[in-house]
Amino acid sequence: MEATEKDILRGGQFLVKETKCEDVFTPEDFSEEQTMMKESVMEFNDREIIPHKPRFEAKDYALTEEVMRKAGDMGFLSVSVPEAYGGMGMGFVSTVLTCDYISSGTGSFSTAFGAHTGIGTLPITLYGTEEQKQKYVPKLATGEWFGAYCLTEPGAGSDANSGKTTATLSADGKTYKINGQKMWISNAGFCSLMIVFARIEDDKNITGFIVEFDKNNPNGITMGEEEHKLGIRASSTRQVFFNDTVVPADNMLAGRGEGFKIAMNALNVGRIKLAAACLDSQRRILSIAVNYANERKQFKTPIADFGAIKTKLAEMAASAYAGESATYRAAKNIEDRITLREASGNSHQEAELKGVEEYAIECSILKVAVSEDVQNAADEGIQIFGGMGFSEETPMESAWRDARIARIYEGTNEINRMLSVGMLVKKAMKGHVDLLGPAQKVQEELMGIPSFDTPDYSELFSEEKEMIKKLKKTFLMVAGGAVQKYGQNLEDHQQLLIAAADILIEIYMAESAILRTEKNVKRTSEKEQSAQIAMAKLYLYHAVDIVEEKGKESIISFAEGDEQRMMLMGLKRFTKYANYPDIVDLRIEIAEKVKAENKYCF
Ligand SMILES: Cc1cc2nc3c(=O)[nH]c(=O)nc-3n(C[C@H](O)[C@H](O)[C@H](O)COP(=O)(O)OP(=O)(O)OC[C@H]3O[C@@H](n4cnc5c(N)ncnc54)[C@H](O)[C@@H]3O)c2cc1C
Repeated sequence: MEATEKDILRGGQFLVKETKCEDVFTPEDFSEEQTMMKESVMEFNDREIIPHKPRFEAKDYALTEEVMRKAGDMGFLSVSVPEAYGGMGMGFVSTVLTCDYISSGTGSFSTAFGAHTGIGTLPITLYGTEEQKQKYVPKLATGEWFGAYCLTEPGAGSDANSGKTTATLSADGKTYKINGQKMWISNAGFCSLMIVFARIEDDKNITGFIVEFDKNNPNGITMGEEEHKLGIRASSTRQVFFNDTVVPADNMLAGRGEGFKIAMNALNVGRIKLAAACLDSQRRILSIAVNYANERKQFKTPIADFGAIKTKLAEMAASAYAGESATYRAAKNIEDRITLREASGNSHQEAELKGVEEYAIECSILKVAVSEDVQNAADEGIQIFGGMGFSEETPMESAWRDARIARIYEGTNEINRMLSVGMLVKKAMKGHVDLLGPAQKVQEELMGIPSFDTPDYSELFSEEKEMIKKLKKTFLMVAGGAVQKYGQNLEDHQQLLIAAADILIEIYMAESAILRTEKNVKRTSEKEQSAQIAMAKLYLYHAVDIVEEKGKESIISFAEGDEQRMMLMGLKRFTKYANYPDIVDLRIEIAEKVKAENKYCF
């Protein structure tokens, strides 16, 4: 059934509107076409990437390029590219699932793939003119050409709009000359096209250009040596220098001064895709870890039978499950929003742009949460392997190193945390999400007399769903109080923003896991979904702890006296379980399931 405007929440609205489980998309909802895509991508990963892992670790950059070409032959580079430009024109969910299942073999390939299909191609599909799209996108979609994205400079990282690279118009107005230095450019070593951001005169904002690159006719473009990195070792990363590089004026993207907007919007898509790219790594890390733990014996016992190891297996499974739940929920929201916009007359280009922009908050949430979860999973994976985990000969070592970059690129996790809350507050100010009304209600509730009724929580997830509602109230109380206190200056209070972001992140992730499970219970049974129920409950339990800690820290920082006491009492109420879940039992149940299946099996 087609989604209608009223079925789909706007970006950030999850916080103030209740979502029914029927309204979330889950990995169990993959269509036949999506399942086929998933299987084909997994088979490619198993055949072309995983067996060659040692070569990737030995910095075989040529292999990365070769596998990228093979991915192009299979059509994987063109999943999201419209058919008019030689692509498959599949929906956003398919784009996300391709990123997910192609990424677990090695971070080197995953980065090359993400940089090419995301930030290397999207600025043209999203902002290019018809001529630019006709000229470049088919080449990028097939892998005849590879794309790179040149935003970062030595002095302009997180502050991306501060770059010093210049673009100077020729006297006849037909070309621009680009001069400057870019650094950390993924795919630089084998790209034929770069999206380059440069400043024209003393414009406030940078401008985007499509720059062709031919090694035999370099047009003033030179490159530094490959960077030697902690992880993603066979991903090409170089500095790129532009010295009077001549670019046709027609290759400007969107318009003068529009570059910062392009850069940010391309990153929104990049962020959800990066989250997806961390998912199958988590699944694979857990599968390899449980395999080892079932085999490895100490004290005449498989280590998987020890409670200490079961804890790790269960926690790894629960965070991978929550990550999947939230990523596919947001991916489908984006896909539906794009479809709706197209139906109401937007071009595909406009619809995609606005559709993704709408969920920029969720994209930042996912980027932060899943990049940190994969790092934790790899870390615990090493621990399960003991000394062998520390050896290059086992896969955990490279998984751990490869995972580390995800917290840095596509906007650091600090920047994304602050962005998520900042964007939400801006949306509220513009009236796109009504936070004010619900925040006022929470204020009234704080001043009122609490109910001492004991609710009936016998129905599955009734207490958990009530808890999610209370966590949302906590966010509204904290963010509402902070906005009241600091107003426009809120962005100067970074510790507060980051704490509020942690609350927001936990709410979205925990709610997504619960809704997915509830939906699946309705179509199967509680018995069949027993381990999934345990994972959703376990994830929520930790979420509540984090919300309590971050809420307390925030309230103490901006409220004093009676107001502080009232808010702290509210926090206590909003983070209180009537019936605590026995998380030791939950972990045992999850771990036993994973042990029995000898893999991540959800
Ligand atoms: C392997 C790799 C591949 C990359 N690929 C590309 C690519 O293809 N194209 C491209 O353009 N870039 C790429 N990058 C660059 C990447 O996007 C930047 O490294 C990233 O945005 C951070 O910028 P920076 O390194 O200058 O760190 P900085 O911005 O200097 O940040 C350093 C620290 O300060 C924090 N910080 C910065 N500003 C603030 C602030 N306002 N408030 C609070 N904390 C702040 C950051 O969170 C971080 O912890 C890549 C980087 C790497 C390492």
